[in-house]
Amino acid sequence: MSSADDRRNVRAGYRHGGATVQGCVQNVHSSHPSLNDSLDEEIQAFLTDEDQLHTYDDLTKVNPVTPTTVLKCLQARYSVKVFYTHAGCTLIALNPFQPVPDLYSLDVMKEYHYASQPQEFKPHIFIVAEEAYRNIQGQLEPVNQSLVVSGESGAGKTWTSRCLMKYYATVAASSSVMKSQDTVERIEKRVLDSNPIMEAFGNACTLRNNNSSRFGKYIQLQLDRCQLLVGASVQTYLLEKTRVTCQPASERNFHVFYQMMKGATDEQRKEWKMPHDQRFAWLPNSEKTIEEDCFDETVEAMVHLGIHAERQQQIFRILAGILQLGNVSFSSTTDESHPCNLGGQSKDFLQRAAELLCVPAEELQTCLRVRTLKAGKQSVLKPCSQAECSVRRDCLAKLIYAQLFEWLVTFINNSICADKSMWCNFIGVLDVYGFECFQINNLEQLCINYANEKLQQHFVAHYLRAQQEEYVSEGLQWSFIKYQDNQSCLDLIEGSPVSVFSLLNEESRLNRVSDAKMFRVRLEKELCDNANISWDKFSKVPHFTVAHYAGKVNYQIEGMVEKNKDPVPAELINLLEKSDNPLLREIFTDKTTENPTNRGLSKVTVVSKFKNSLESLMKILHTTTPHYTRCIKPNPDCKPLTFKKEEVIMQLEACGIVETIHISAAGFPIRIPFESFMQRYGLIVKYSKAGSHSVDLEADSSDALQLEVKKLLAVALHRLSSDKHSSLVHCGRTKVFLTQAMLDLLEDQRKKIL
Ligand code: ADP
Ligand code: MG
Repeated sequence: MSSADDRRNVRAGYRHGGATVQGCVQNVHSSHPSLNDSLDEEIQAFLTDEDQLHTYDDLTKVNPVTPTTVLKCLQARYSVKVFYTHAGCTLIALNPFQPVPDLYSLDVMKEYHYASQPQEFKPHIFIVAEEAYRNIQGQLEPVNQSLVVSGESGAGKTWTSRCLMKYYATVAASSSVMKSQDTVERIEKRVLDSNPIMEAFGNACTLRNNNSSRFGKYIQLQLDRCQLLVGASVQTYLLEKTRVTCQPASERNFHVFYQMMKGATDEQRKEWKMPHDQRFAWLPNSEKTIEEDCFDETVEAMVHLGIHAERQQQIFRILAGILQLGNVSFSSTTDESHPCNLGGQSKDFLQRAAELLCVPAEELQTCLRVRTLKAGKQSVLKPCSQAECSVRRDCLAKLIYAQLFEWLVTFINNSICADKSMWCNFIGVLDVYGFECFQINNLEQLCINYANEKLQQHFVAHYLRAQQEEYVSEGLQWSFIKYQDNQSCLDLIEGSPVSVFSLLNEESRLNRVSDAKMFRVRLEKELCDNANISWDKFSKVPHFTVAHYAGKVNYQIEGMVEKNKDPVPAELINLLEKSDNPLLREIFTDKTTENPTNRGLSKVTVVSKFKNSLESLMKILHTTTPHYTRCIKPNPDCKPLTFKKEEVIMQLEACGIVETIHISAAGFPIRIPFESFMQRYGLIVKYSKAGSHSVDLEADSSDALQLEVKKLLAVALHRLSSDKHSSLVHCGRTKVFLTQAMLDLLEDQRKKIL
């Protein structure tokens, strides 16, 4: 038998020996030449099994688990249109980028829901859904569940989240909540209808995804004692509001604006001052038609959720007002007392914006062009420069849009949230932006990557706990205490007393003129001891580099402090409070009465707000049993059934799968059931000169088998004539736990005997 055949048989043996066999490389970056050589051989041997690669339903069964072997398996599965694969406690979902008939049909849902052992079915998102559902039924502690869906933009997170929601809206549907009035839809439908509204207002067409979510979302599906869906609540994170006024090249603004432009009736167009031939500066690429440009669907969902016609009018008038604002431009003058004028047709656009927002046009103009400076009790009026006027215009638009979005989320919650007395458990679905690393990264990326660090830490803790539990149940005295998690990176970003966030907040509070420069100086001075941060002193664009678990990211310093301050001139809020649009008035009056001293909106910095909301999310996650789904985008162009290896490996790294492999390697990644172990290595004892040991391959009681395994290990270790190897292998209650290095040594012994 050739060595490759031999090795294949080893793997086959493990695979058939039991479902829990887990293979992994002891140290992927081992500097030990002989280990690396044998690793290469293993990989080569494994890869010669080409036509079998697609059969691996769980990547932890691949032996050895390396980025190369994992990648090959996923590619083989994708090529035969198998899109889901387990990776231990994680489900990997490859985006098919084309409809997959019947994969998500009602019949398939039923199959998984009614199966006695759904885990034995082909990997599917419904297995994750069903497992979470059954955990609640089974009253495992903690009872509440979280489904964490991650991946990069366009990987399929939102699609997967919707799919999960549909699953529960189907299997946990309750006909008893059917309301008698025709206008109030069943709760399941209302929960699902929250999606098109939030997507219309929070999603946009980007280079990476035609329907890219520009906010994070955690939705809790509320279940009653009988496991029926009785309501839901939504929490959103960090809406990318800058998109309202500034769209990256070849990208678009939020869908809802285009939906209005394309779907409005003639009457509505007139009402919203949107004639067919009107061009809007903030609506680039409107000639591009995408599936999501569906105004009727948004309006229909609004109706189902109880947003009545008059309210809809108010919403759309506000949006139309924002578009008009975008066409207002300013020109500079040489007159120092009036350094800026309205350019071209801007007077008309401003007039229309004022009418749509229901505020006096004169006041709107003054707000944009004149700053009120407070000096003690006195106010001084200062005309703004052209640049300042544009900043104020953008600020007004972003402010209105962000507050409108928040109002919508609150409205949706009021419409779908069940009374606390009605539900007892929840399943949370988390759809958040994945790790981001662009050429230029700003405060948004820092927040997003910080969130991913937090989630990764949560995942690692959960994963290690699961591993540890298996060790305990097998009676192993071993712990992962030596494993270094990403705490040091989190300390760098959010820790106290000094971190990137704390310095950013302090600079924001001090409000210095050259805050970017000061921020940079302080970062370098106060964080110089931290190994997770570095600087390129010669770079033209000042930046700092953070070593995240998923890779290094450069963050541009310029503009970061200002973004963090996110200042809102008080005049703008004063103006909106006075609007005759009841919705605008409601939104802004609420804010100011809540906190009259700081006008409700301006003082909390962006990172503080984000950190707080993330901390409360983490608190909730910690009280739930998590289930992880990692969505992978197989190619950057969203092409159907196209698998680009470089793209996929980068994502496996970024979403922590490779990291998980390393963690597994920190323990005993290979577990072989006693029977298989004896079958394969029993001959080591038989032919041992150490002699007196006899091995009973037929031992039947598990205690007897364990004894035999222990004897065998003693002989094998004796033959190695070294004590240091004893730490590489442990005998559990039903399995032998070993490292890759130990497996290699056993294989060598076996080969010598044969
Ligand atoms: P993300 O939220 O991760 O940015 P999306 O969930 O919006 O990505 O997915 C991007 C696109 O990929 C979707 O609009 C859809 O066309 C396609 N897609 C994702 N998952 C699937 C799937 N399971 N089956 C078919 N198409 C999918
Ligand atoms: Mg999305």
